[in-house]
Amino acid sequence: QSNFNQNIDYVFKIVLIGDSAVGKSQLLARFARNEFSVDSKATIGVEFQTKTLVIDHKTVKAQIWDTAGQERYRAVTSAYYRGAVGAMLVYDITKRQSFDHVAKWLEELQGHADKNIVVMLVGNKSDLGTLRAVPTEDAKEFAQRENIFFMETSALEAVNVEEAFLTVLTEIYQIVS
Ligand code: GDP
Ligand code: MG
Repeated sequence: QSNFNQNIDYVFKIVLIGDSAVGKSQLLARFARNEFSVDSKATIGVEFQTKTLVIDHKTVKAQIWDTAGQERYRAVTSAYYRGAVGAMLVYDITKRQSFDHVAKWLEELQGHADKNIVVMLVGNKSDLGTLRAVPTEDAKEFAQRENIFFMETSALEAVNVEEAFLTVLTEIYQIVS
């Protein structure tokens, strides 16, 4: 990797959570490698991917954890959340149920993670606007009530993905620096 010998000032662990099939793995692939695979299978084996970036002249390594499909069985373990300073809580704007479960995910997150964790609510698949089942306003209100960030993204079309991760990373940076 190109960052051999590079001094890392900070390592931030970010976790991806949310229902199965909302696009967590594709959001990570888009952010970390600028890739999207059309027939992605449930992630197997890989625990996290990293991306190194510069924030305010400091080198920050984002270590982004993806579930290996455990979310299907509500079996995401406390080890997954341990040490996380940020979380992307993802739902699918075309699947109402995935948004209805967001409150449960937030509860689970707050039960396991540090209380200062920075959370971004992510409404993914914004490219499928014609199939929308969750009004933007509903999610915005939820996020305001819970005092968390909110953005709609498309991993497929690379819309707002970088922005969503950067917002979380910059906020974390401001807290720790
Ligand atoms: P995960 O189970 O939450 O990790 O979801 P995946 O990343 O595996 O994605 C589930 C399905 O949604 C796959 O078929 C992806 O190709 C598709 N998908 C993911 N992100 C998007 C997106 O932004 N737009 C569209 N149209 N499909 C997406
Ligand atoms: Mg996945």
